[in-house]
Amino acid sequence: MNTAIHQEDTIAALATPPGVSGLAVIRVSGADAIDCVAAVFRGGDLRQASSHTMHHGHVLNPQGHTIDEVLAAVFRAPRSYTGENSVEISCHGGATAYRAVLDRLYAAGVRHAEPGEFTRRAFLNGKMDLSQAEAVADLIHAQSEDAHQASVRQLEGRLSSFVEGIRSSLLHCLGMLELSLDFVEEDVEFLTAERLRSDIAQAEAKLRDALATFRSGRIIREGVKVVLLGKPNVGKSSLLNAVLGTQRAIVTDVPGTTRDYIEEQMMLHGRPFRFVDTAGLRETHDRVEQLGISASTEQLRDADIVCGIIDDPAESEGLEVLRSLAADIGARCIGVLNKCDLHTHPLVTDTDLVSISALHGTGLDVLLQRLADVAANIGMLPASYEVVVTNVRHAACIERGITALGRAASAAEAGRTEECIAVELREAADALGEIIGVVTTDDILNGIFSRFCIGK
Ligand code: GDP
Repeated sequence: MNTAIHQEDTIAALATPPGVSGLAVIRVSGADAIDCVAAVFRGGDLRQASSHTMHHGHVLNPQGHTIDEVLAAVFRAPRSYTGENSVEISCHGGATAYRAVLDRLYAAGVRHAEPGEFTRRAFLNGKMDLSQAEAVADLIHAQSEDAHQASVRQLEGRLSSFVEGIRSSLLHCLGMLELSLDFVEEDVEFLTAERLRSDIAQAEAKLRDALATFRSGRIIREGVKVVLLGKPNVGKSSLLNAVLGTQRAIVTDVPGTTRDYIEEQMMLHGRPFRFVDTAGLRETHDRVEQLGISASTEQLRDADIVCGIIDDPAESEGLEVLRSLAADIGARCIGVLNKCDLHTHPLVTDTDLVSISALHGTGLDVLLQRLADVAANIGMLPASYEVVVTNVRHAACIERGITALGRAASAAEAGRTEECIAVELREAADALGEIIGVVTTDDILNGIFSRFCIGK
């Protein structure tokens, strides 16, 4: 989307979930929002209305007949969510009422909003920074109390002020280095080498501490990721179905998952879990990959727990391969022996192995308890922390910042020129700037806001 062109439009969308409900709220925003609604509304002149006032009236069709009886709340720029003139129309719930009102607005020249467009406008109008805008999406999708709390803190600007603090100290160093370059003839020292080194080291340490919270942060936000691994036909899909079956009422679909794996979310002992069935992963002739897996697989890389599944007690060697794969990626491994209904003499000497039958549901309670126990010990936050990083984009920016600061420190240590050090400091400051959106591109914005729902 080209923001420069589209930001002039007045946009509208349903802000409440579609379907049957008592009320539905339609959000309208843009310079002409109040005029556009006023043109289809009877019940007081909205054009004269003060900000933050509510008006009872009717939305009319072009023939003057009532489409719906509504309440219109008027918000004048800049005191609105988007920072633009806005109207929130509360109409009757149920698809016919809100659709008719929306169609009337579209006919009156209002455009349908794209996903996240209201929040994108709020960001572009300086109502919030980028990490706060992302927190809005997280808040909407939060599935647990912890995830809700984390996004509320981010929305309040905790991450923003942490990042801004470090960034401004780097910009200060950068300014001093540039001054030294300007006055290179005069032999004036604006920033001592010692001060520069300590500022870089301090910034790097703070960023490392923040990054250390990322695993916990991701678990808080997305749930504990459990990857089901094993040879084809050991029963991975059956196990996923059986696990979900026990919790059917609280299973939610995750949109946007790809075709080569299946991901399902569920709550277990009050904590969100994501189960990934890798059954669709490609198989090759390599010994490890004969198990239907690849260590480089995207899905495996950020697993918190691996369920290493075998269906034959004699397969302990295969299980060892799965265990070492899990260890390689820093995940915990739970060994699972499936199809216990078929084993007349299950030679299970491995006390760490949970015996189940995915087909008959035997042993599932033991497995779920084991999962909850193992999960209880992962994702703990460090004893002290300033912020929790929950978002993979933020973590990547922080990592980039740390790497650039490392290079800056080496350059300073090696007595390289101010220019060389300044380049690295600029890169670190820019990486941090991307988190809050002071340094950004349309691509970054499109990536973020396309994940929002329409109406937000
Ligand atoms: P995947 O390829 O690892 O996902 O394996 P599937 O879940 O597709 O299962 C492969 C076959 O094993 C299917 O025919 C299942 O019905 C069967 N199966 C799965 N679990 C069990 C079990 O506990 N007992 C028995 N007897 N068969 C099972």
